[in-house]
Amino acid sequence: MIEEDIQLGAYGVAAILFILSLKGMSEVKTARLGNWAGIAGMVLGVAATGLAVHLRNTGLAIAAVGVGTLLGVPMALRMPMTAVPQRTAFSHAFGALAAALVGTGEFYDRAPEIAAHGATGLDRFSIVVLCAEVILGYLTATGSIVALLKLQEVKWIPSAPVIFPGRHVISALLIGGAFAIAIYLAIDPSQAYLFPVLIGAALIFGVLLVLAIGGADMPTVIAILNAYAGLSAVGLGFVLNNKLLIVAGALDGSSGLVLAVLMCQAMNRSFANVLFGGFGATASTGAKKKEERPYRSGAADEAAFLLSNASKVVFAPGYGLAVAQAQHAVREVADELKKRGVDVKYGIHPVAGRMPGHMNVLLADANIPYDELLEMDEVNPLFPEIDVVVIVGANDVVNPAASADEKSPLFGMPMLEVDRAKNVIFLKRSMAVGFAGVDNDLFYRPNTMMLFGDAKKSLLSVREALKQV
Ligand code: NDP
Repeated sequence: MIEEDIQLGAYGVAAILFILSLKGMSEVKTARLGNWAGIAGMVLGVAATGLAVHLRNTGLAIAAVGVGTLLGVPMALRMPMTAVPQRTAFSHAFGALAAALVGTGEFYDRAPEIAAHGATGLDRFSIVVLCAEVILGYLTATGSIVALLKLQEVKWIPSAPVIFPGRHVISALLIGGAFAIAIYLAIDPSQAYLFPVLIGAALIFGVLLVLAIGGADMPTVIAILNAYAGLSAVGLGFVLNNKLLIVAGALDGSSGLVLAVLMCQAMNRSFANVLFGGFGATASTGAKKKEERPYRSGAADEAAFLLSNASKVVFAPGYGLAVAQAQHAVREVADELKKRGVDVKYGIHPVAGRMPGHMNVLLADANIPYDELLEMDEVNPLFPEIDVVVIVGANDVVNPAASADEKSPLFGMPMLEVDRAKNVIFLKRSMAVGFAGVDNDLFYRPNTMMLFGDAKKSLLSVREALKQV
């Protein structure tokens, strides 16, 4: 009894810590604190559960936690900033798989007993919840693995949407069939041989769900899979009558949903389509082949000359900044410009990089003052007054096709309107396309200068050249 009270009290504190964690992580300044609050809540939750459930084999449980910690800590420490979305997909895959496996175990524990004693209304309800949890868990696990592989751009799985005729019908049959089995099992729990069919249908559905999505829409899929994993945990919480699991799952699921909605708004995509995994279906239609067109490329000293004559400069960072780890080099160039009285700001697109907030985190790492970071809506009206925009490894988020080319997969996505500035310096390594696979008209404009090379090296050369001007 006392143990139960302690457990409930600890769960209450853990739930508050989880809420504080989400609150903290919503701002760069408090993100680290938020992360620690989440870790503390999780440790407390696991310890309280271990205390109350009278583990049959404590040694095995401690060993499992030890192995998980030994694998997880170096993975998190060594993970490059460019791989955050893949890492997130990886975590969702394992979190959802864990929930699905526990649910599977519970089903095989309970179903024969319920079948033997005759199912009550409550039993039937718990079997439907259990099956729904298992379906969500398995489809999230395979969907997350496919998302991980696509984001990692492995050769044997296309990053673009994989569309084939009849896929909607197949998907509907799979998910409809899985839920039909769930209801049938609630009516007659003795038909347990159908349970593996339900699992198989959920696993295949997860693959099809994410295969149909691609390109610039992949990070939104990660958010929606996060929500599915959370919902799966809520279901498991009900099945196991574990209140903390219900709270944590609900927080995870709802924050994933809110994030997906916000990302859809930033990308101007329909949220209804995200839920059914078909919203990327047309994404490849407008991707055209790159044309050979004249462009202007320059060297670091030319860029420095242009910058030294500017009075207002905006840096537009993107995924390439993360690849090059160029955040400190950007700051050094900015410091050099500020010494000359140049007004320096940073234009942050909400989905620049591979996750929302990616650029804010990187720039904060280089101690760039928060008040110099302008959101897209704040910076867009300023561009006609800006003398030079320096694009640091961004591409899709500055592509004018988003407003000019109806056939482009980027059409309708709000973008940084850098094309309205007086001059553009484009820092990238080649004329290659961005994540969405679309050519960028901005490369070929007369007021654009391409500065080829790794963004960090280019910026450091510009900084040296600035000192000579
Ligand atoms: P992009 O992926 O479009 O472009 C990045 C550019 O960086 C590339 O063109 C690449 O060109 C360049 N680059 C790569 N490495 C380096 C390096 N070391 N030095 C210099 N340049 C480098 O990035 P953006 O940030 O512009 O756009 C992000 C994309 O992700 C968008 O398509 C966006 O829609 C999508 N996204 C979608 C979200 C959603 O909610 N659906 C969320 C987040 C992102 P090169 O190879 O020539 O160097």
